[in-house]
Amino acid sequence: MTSLLAVLLSLPIVLMYHRVDVTAPSDRISQSLTISPDQFTAELQYLRDRHLRTMSVAELEADVRSGQSPSNAVLLTFDDGYDDQYQYAFPILRRFGDVATFFVNVGSVGKPRHMTWQQIATMAQEGMSFGCHGVTHSDLAVMGVAAQEYQIERCVDVLSAQLHDNVIAYAYPSGAFDERTVRLEQQAGLLLGFTTDPRFQRDADSLYELTRRRVKNGMTTADFASLLAPPPSIKIRASPRR
Ligand SMILES: [Zn+2]
Repeated sequence: MTSLLAVLLSLPIVLMYHRVDVTAPSDRISQSLTISPDQFTAELQYLRDRHLRTMSVAELEADVRSGQSPSNAVLLTFDDGYDDQYQYAFPILRRFGDVATFFVNVGSVGKPRHMTWQQIATMAQEGMSFGCHGVTHSDLAVMGVAAQEYQIERCVDVLSAQLHDNVIAYAYPSGAFDERTVRLEQQAGLLLGFTTDPRFQRDADSLYELTRRRVKNGMTTADFASLLAPPPSIKIRASPRR
């Protein structure tokens, strides 16, 4: 029998990106979510200079499962599956030898301005990770249980079939979820859930309520550095690594 120990874990800093593009959209919200390729390059350079490595969700999950705290690690995440992530973010990540996790809405793949399955497959082959962001970009907390189940299970089924791999992570559109969400995620085989900021957290020790820090357009190096303060440790039950 595996013994379960309560362990205090330091988690990696999780950064949340949306778009990386040479031209920022005209509306104010999309503009704040779109950073330039130069800004993204400078941020990866900053992580490298600080000896912070980027890790995948699978590495994080393996560490957590064995009660190990990832050290000097950052998890880079991208939401919404825009094609500029393939066009601009992916080549920069490759140049630095970094990895990121991309949360996609399976219903938007191949639609205008969004990545195609072929682009997603190419990125996965090059070491990028993918997670679910729903079928549509819809707030789970206002749905009935059947609608939530559809968003979660359908996204996991489609994405895992396309990737020929397990999907272990989910990011909630707009950060919102409720008590039913976590049960449905466990049922779908998901192991990690990401919200946006701590406003949405009900249980700070839950691996289904991991918070992220938003990277915005025009952040200076000092602004970016302030996002990298270590997050509080969480208490989990883990089986020790042999
Ligand atoms: Zn989103």
